[in-house]
Amino acid sequence: MNNKQAHCYSCKQLVTLHVTSQDFTDGSRHLRGSCPLCRRWIKWVPWDEPRFYVGKYAGQTIRDVTRKDPSYAQWALDNLRLSTASREVLREEEFTRSSHA
Ligand SMILES: [Zn+2]
Repeated sequence: MNNKQAHCYSCKQLVTLHVTSQDFTDGSRHLRGSCPLCRRWIKWVPWDEPRFYVGKYAGQTIRDVTRKDPSYAQWALDNLRLSTASREVLREEEFTRSSHA
C-alpha cells in the first residue's frame, strides 16, 4: 500500500486518495488527501521530496529553490525550522555548488 491509498471510514473501503493542496493562514501548504467517493478528509499526504512548508516558496521542492535562489536557501537554513531531511538536501546542494566552483 503506497501513501496515496487509505481506508475511508465512511465508505468502508480502500480508496486512492483525491489529493489537493491546501494553504493555511500561517503560510504553510500541505497536501490534503480525501476520499474520491464521499470527499471526506482522510489524512495529510507527505510530499514526495522535502519542500518548504512556509515562506515565499511554500510548496516548492527544496532542491529547486536552492538552485534558483541560493541566497534564500542559505537564509532558510539559518532562520527557518526545517526537517532533518530538508536540511540534508540544503547541505547536499550547498556541497554540490562549492565542489564545482
Ligand atoms: Zn469515503
